[in-house]
Amino acid sequence: MNSSPLAALAGQIAAGESSPEKAAADACAAIDRAAVLNAFIQITEKRAATDIERAEQLIDSGNSPLGGVPVAVKDIICTLETRTTCASKLLAEFTSPYEATVTGLLAKAGAVVVGKTNLDEFAMGTTGEHSAFGATRNPWDRQRVPGGSSSGSAAAVAARLVVAALGTDTGGSVRMPAAYCGICGIKPTYGMVSRRGLVAYGSSLDQAGVFASAAADLRIVLAAIAGHDPGDSTSRPDAGLAETVLPENLNGIRIGVVEQLFGQGVSDEVAGPVRAAIGQMQQLGASIVKLEIESIRHAIPAYYIIACAEAASNLSRFDGIRYGSRASGEDIEQVIMRSRSQGFGAEVKRRIMLGSFVLCHGYIDAYYRKAQQLRRKLIDEFASAFAQCDLIAAPAAPTTAPRLGEFGDDPVRMYGQDVCTVPANLAGLPALSIPCGFAAGLPVGLQLIGAKMSDALLLDCAQVYQGKTDFHLQVPPEYQ
Ligand code: GLN
Repeated sequence: MNSSPLAALAGQIAAGESSPEKAAADACAAIDRAAVLNAFIQITEKRAATDIERAEQLIDSGNSPLGGVPVAVKDIICTLETRTTCASKLLAEFTSPYEATVTGLLAKAGAVVVGKTNLDEFAMGTTGEHSAFGATRNPWDRQRVPGGSSSGSAAAVAARLVVAALGTDTGGSVRMPAAYCGICGIKPTYGMVSRRGLVAYGSSLDQAGVFASAAADLRIVLAAIAGHDPGDSTSRPDAGLAETVLPENLNGIRIGVVEQLFGQGVSDEVAGPVRAAIGQMQQLGASIVKLEIESIRHAIPAYYIIACAEAASNLSRFDGIRYGSRASGEDIEQVIMRSRSQGFGAEVKRRIMLGSFVLCHGYIDAYYRKAQQLRRKLIDEFASAFAQCDLIAAPAAPTTAPRLGEFGDDPVRMYGQDVCTVPANLAGLPALSIPCGFAAGLPVGLQLIGAKMSDALLLDCAQVYQGKTDFHLQVPPEYQ
């Protein structure tokens, strides 16, 4: 049941049955009605007006792949004519002087940015609860989290407030909320999409990603934002989404099943639908290869050491002087100390302390270097795995969406939720999550991980699967 709500809406606009202005107004009204989800930090009227004007011109000239459709952008991606808060008190009033490459490309393709979405502060979190603007709610069950850190973008697409949204994925922040919210989300190959204008968390891991309800729409948006950017030193020279002719089945595709990705806390209610989806892909012509990737069991500690080390360094610029709201103090040190103490939330402070610790003289060899060695080993093991298979299928998250507050003050348990997603970030691989079933009324996500630059193949397989299934067509009852 392949569908493309984005193409359908763009088609209506092109046919004059709607317009960029009307579509944006409809989206804003829907966002308003769904305010209880707390998915948005700002509605960006001024920015939307600029985008609408441009979209109209592009549509007139017949050159608008995104056709005037309204989209939402995670509020860690810098956009002009809006604030960029990173869901932090410290940046509550921050306006970026420049535009991120990805959102610039979206606008150039005719998209209209109607709002900036909620997230875990500075993208640090798994649930969407660690925001200075309050927790986002899951449209399937408001007592549950939508997943983080791109919580608002996922909730907005799941509730059908917008057809597509941008997120960022450092350790799972697109795939995890996509899984919890029953939508599609892709984290491209590292270097496929520009990081210029994304407020950095873990620079060697961060990638912008896309949310949509159908894989066909992920492809349309990713095609618009992928590409080499001289403004990002880690952008790949060969970046870009290859055009493919969509195959009818999965004949010839070798799917790797890695037992380590079904261990470490993956619940039966998630493993069941994921294994069933793999079975269905086999019926569609794929063959199954059983594989081992030993180092996956060390992926969580390696990820948290590396991500926190990079975060500690990246976040040093938020001192109330270079960036961030400034607290008063008697001397510069006191100003910096107070600005940071008052501005950052508890989870961000924890990561800065962890990161500073693992980089300290005397500990750097024991922690940071060790983590880098594990990362290297994991990269090599993935490379040998992809000599034997074309993609790896696994759960995206070990459980369905947790209840709000479920992890209480046990951050280590929360970190454990990232077990299925962080390996792809450590290895720089493309990965996506698509809906593959329900457990007790909550969506379950199937993750497909590919070799570097196989983003188009992942999308092909997701589209073939969605051609035969209807999990991605399910909408939370209140938002139908
Ligand atoms: N949950 C992971 C973390 O907290 C991933 C976050 C992300 O991908 N931005 O670091």
